[in-house]
Amino acid sequence: MKYYSTNQQSSDATLREAVLRGLPPDNGLYMPYSIPRLSPDFIEGMSSLSFPEIAVEVMAALLDAELPQDVLREMTEEAINFDAPLVQLDEHLHVLELFHGPTLAFKDFAARFMARLMGYYVRNSDEELTILVATSGDTGSAVANGFVGVAGIRVFILYPSGRVSPLQEKQLTTLGENITALEIDGSFDDCQAMVKSAFLDETLGTHYRLTSANSINIARLLPQTLYYFRAVAQIRKQALPIVMSVPSGNFGNLTAGLIARKMGLPIYHFIAATNINDIVPRYLASGLFDPQVSRSTISNAMDVGNPSNFQRLLALYDGDFAAIRKDVSGFSATDDETRETMQGIYQHFDYVADPHGAVGYRALQQFRAFGQKAMCGIFLETAHPAKFDTVVEETLGIKVDIPAALSSLAKRQKVATSLPANFSALKEFLL
Ligand SMILES: *Cc1c(COP(=O)(O)O)cnc(C)c1O
Repeated sequence: MKYYSTNQQSSDATLREAVLRGLPPDNGLYMPYSIPRLSPDFIEGMSSLSFPEIAVEVMAALLDAELPQDVLREMTEEAINFDAPLVQLDEHLHVLELFHGPTLAFKDFAARFMARLMGYYVRNSDEELTILVATSGDTGSAVANGFVGVAGIRVFILYPSGRVSPLQEKQLTTLGENITALEIDGSFDDCQAMVKSAFLDETLGTHYRLTSANSINIARLLPQTLYYFRAVAQIRKQALPIVMSVPSGNFGNLTAGLIARKMGLPIYHFIAATNINDIVPRYLASGLFDPQVSRSTISNAMDVGNPSNFQRLLALYDGDFAAIRKDVSGFSATDDETRETMQGIYQHFDYVADPHGAVGYRALQQFRAFGQKAMCGIFLETAHPAKFDTVVEETLGIKVDIPAALSSLAKRQKVATSLPANFSALKEFLL
């Protein structure tokens, strides 16, 4: 399978090139030329398969013999070693819990797979790969956790000092080994600008083979199809159309869902659920894609003003706006509406949702109110409520249990190097 750039100026890439390069030189995004269809027999039979068994089959179809079968199997089984349970809240409502991985957010699935795929590609070369990531919280911890101990790869994480939660900071700074945390005296935007400068710097380019690990990398997109298959496999046989509501920021998650649908997964409709950073819901209403400066909300992992995967969404539909609107509806929520919804979910279902999941549930309810009543509704819970314990406790007036994976971190020693927010400091440090 070859990968093309959505800007169509760069030449095609193999999977290896696309993964190690991250971005095509023309600044587009890599996409596979074709999306394979899985057999109806496989899809009907998924309910009797384990998650790793489903995952191996789906990845094998997607990656189309790019890797030896035994390698792909091992990689997938190691990466997908925790479940995505579908929890039923009432007769026609489910929540897909994507937070059972080591850093308690859905980014674990893809980060763990990408780490193993990159590890495989560098294993047989004597050149070390260096990954630079700027993070405002969740991405950095999932990437750090995915890559810890992977031979041949070093990871530098840049995070804004004082602007990540104490637990998030522990997730970034206590791993050691091949993971180095850089505490930047500046904002997330400063961190991102420093990383961008590093990729363009010729001196660094001669000393390091640099790549990125954010959601524009195709190796992070494709594994996100897997939990959509796992979700459908858990639904008891029924005739109602399945509607999935996806809390969205950069739209990697939703794009992966649409790819799963193209592979033959019977999902009737998707909902793009956002906070007030509602670029895509407004696009779906008007046909106009109008990026904005992002605004801060309580569902901060979705505070994105220029969703990077939008180009992939368009590419999947050859830019056909009517076709996109047939498959995807968009709704947005303010912080007040999100809080109200968290309270509603807690009262009705005795279920504690984090702010991101609540945005998803609210959008699903709005879609239902719109006319489409008979459906099997599923919203994605993208992070564990303990990751946003302050907001959850304030809003619901309860104490959130912190899972062992997080609470044990509190005792560990933070190790980070402080740097001023300028590229020359980063360059000096790296050289
Ligand atoms: C990253 C993230 C999102 C947004 O996902 P996209 O793929 O960028 O749309 C939603 N919720 C949580 C908790 C996240 O960490």
